Amino acid sequence: MPTASTRVCRARILASHMNFCNQCGAKVELRVPAGDHFARHVCDACGTIHYQNPCLIAGCVPEHDGRILLCRRAIQPRRGYWTIPAGFMENGETLQQAAARESQEEALADVEIGSLLSIVHVLHARQVHVFFRATLHTPSFGPGPESLEVKLVSPEDIPWPDLAFPSTDFTLRRYLDDRKVGREQHYFTEINRRLPGE
Ligand code: ZN
Repeated sequence: MPTASTRVCRARILASHMNFCNQCGAKVELRVPAGDHFARHVCDACGTIHYQNPCLIAGCVPEHDGRILLCRRAIQPRRGYWTIPAGFMENGETLQQAAARESQEEALADVEIGSLLSIVHVLHARQVHVFFRATLHTPSFGPGPESLEVKLVSPEDIPWPDLAFPSTDFTLRRYLDDRKVGREQHYFTEINRRLPGE
């Protein structure tokens, strides 16, 4: 049975650091609120409990004529490394809409979102990444503000050592495995390690 202090330690790892309440500006304290099981930043001045929960990232593997659309990141983390279009989901949109919007923003590409491909629990980053298959009907694309370069690559030309994130690697490998045998399944995994520069 974890004690209150071990739960606070765990929360220090799992929660972003916070000094002040964003509702009233008073100092917050990290502790387990009554009736809760996790430590939270609590504001005794206004009573707000600051819950922190994982963020959703939505993305896709856009394919055109057997090749896959990859973006080289112009932003940190992992600037200069290759990835597939993906980003933080916004309020008021579906996962598919988020994946399509990110393709437009990062790769100036209009994609048609297809079946669910992978769900990656990125525990150390407090994120859940959700990827779909997608079709790029016309080979029209280019670097958005967050990309240095965007290109269509054949599976044999994927720069595996230069991929930005393990979730990208996992997703592309499952995608290609499925494509070889003509199936569209979905896959789960979890990642709990940071890469250099991440
Ligand atoms: Zn407050």
